[in-house]
Amino acid sequence: MRPATHPAYLKLELAERGLVLDPSVRIHSAPFRSSTGADAVARSLDLVLPQGVWVSAPVEERATAGSPFRLLVDGDRVVLVRRDPDGVETLRVEVRAVPQPRFYERHTTRGTPMWRVAAVHGSHLLINPAGACGFSLRGTPCRFCVEGAPATAERDAAAPVEEVLEVVRAAFDEGAAEFVYFNSGFFDAEDGGMGFLAPYVEAVRRHFDTLIATQVHPPRDNRWIDRTYAMGVDALSYNLEMFDEDALKRHCVGRARYIGRERYLEALARAAEVFPSGTVWTDLVVGLEPPQSTMRGIDALAAMAVVPVVSVFRTPEAVGPRASLDGAEVAPVLARLYRAVKERRINMGWMRDLSLGITPLEARHFAGDGARLAVAVQRLTRFRLGALAARSLARFRRRLRVRTVGESFDASHV
Ligand code: SF4
Repeated sequence: MRPATHPAYLKLELAERGLVLDPSVRIHSAPFRSSTGADAVARSLDLVLPQGVWVSAPVEERATAGSPFRLLVDGDRVVLVRRDPDGVETLRVEVRAVPQPRFYERHTTRGTPMWRVAAVHGSHLLINPAGACGFSLRGTPCRFCVEGAPATAERDAAAPVEEVLEVVRAAFDEGAAEFVYFNSGFFDAEDGGMGFLAPYVEAVRRHFDTLIATQVHPPRDNRWIDRTYAMGVDALSYNLEMFDEDALKRHCVGRARYIGRERYLEALARAAEVFPSGTVWTDLVVGLEPPQSTMRGIDALAAMAVVPVVSVFRTPEAVGPRASLDGAEVAPVLARLYRAVKERRINMGWMRDLSLGITPLEARHFAGDGARLAVAVQRLTRFRLGALAARSLARFRRRLRVRTVGESFDASHV
């Protein structure tokens, strides 16, 4: 398979270039899942590519001008087509368009549209109860970000815990998601926003048999990392985005100015000591720093037992002349991603079905034949039974750990 037809490569290319919707899609009766909810203008659609690779592909006209991809409906099949600049078809592949969850059409008992409370990405239900990115509020959003600034305008008060539970229940009842993923835009709190998220985490744990991930900025005090695990979070991310220090300063002003690269790395290293293998991750945006630098980042993170996830920037016009991904540059980065994580024996089963980033498991396509056996083993975790076993194991392990973490934390009066 040529690199440009690998589902993992298609995922990156689609995430970056977006796709144009053929009129046959627009008249299709079943709405596809948009990342922005039922009432909003769809900014992107979730698709499942061959080999179960999820992608969230931008569809807004502004973001897809010049995209070689077109999505069309042919009978009962949804087909992705790519053409070169001369109009010659270079790819035609059947994909699965994910139907829009029914809960997007509903309102909570307080009258809030449910899509404002939670959005489904891949198999995760993404919830940002505070609804605002702190860096955006301070005027220092990441240059490539399409989410930060708009998010601030959508909700001005934190979602009540009961309302979040109501939406989680609605999403789970219809099978729209398997896991809960909390996000927080706090960056200047000593606890990294975990104190704010704690009641939500505790409530979800009490009411649902699911895994909970959080993506927050590093707390100032490492004891909050221990506390995060003790409170019931199963997977944790402090997103560094860029490994090179200058690139970080250029593209992620808020991260560099208010937290700093070293703190992200320190906190990730500590989290990887506390959390089970494969459950601490960070995104690295490919294409905004030299590939060698991204690969150095992959190696450094894997050496700390942190899982790197390679993601793509969505707004090329905002980041200057480096306007598109080069397949020849990206392929070795993805091969390194898989190999580095495998060599360090980090569990790859936890990071999966992410529609916004390439996981090490997805990157296996670039690592050659030797990857096949490992993949067969890792696939076990994809089945629900595997997930249930993982949950029980996670709880057992946590119970053992929480006693010590809780005692030392309470004793410290943080
Ligand atoms: S990518 Fe940057 S600007 Fe966007 S939401 Fe995250 S921290 Fe905020």
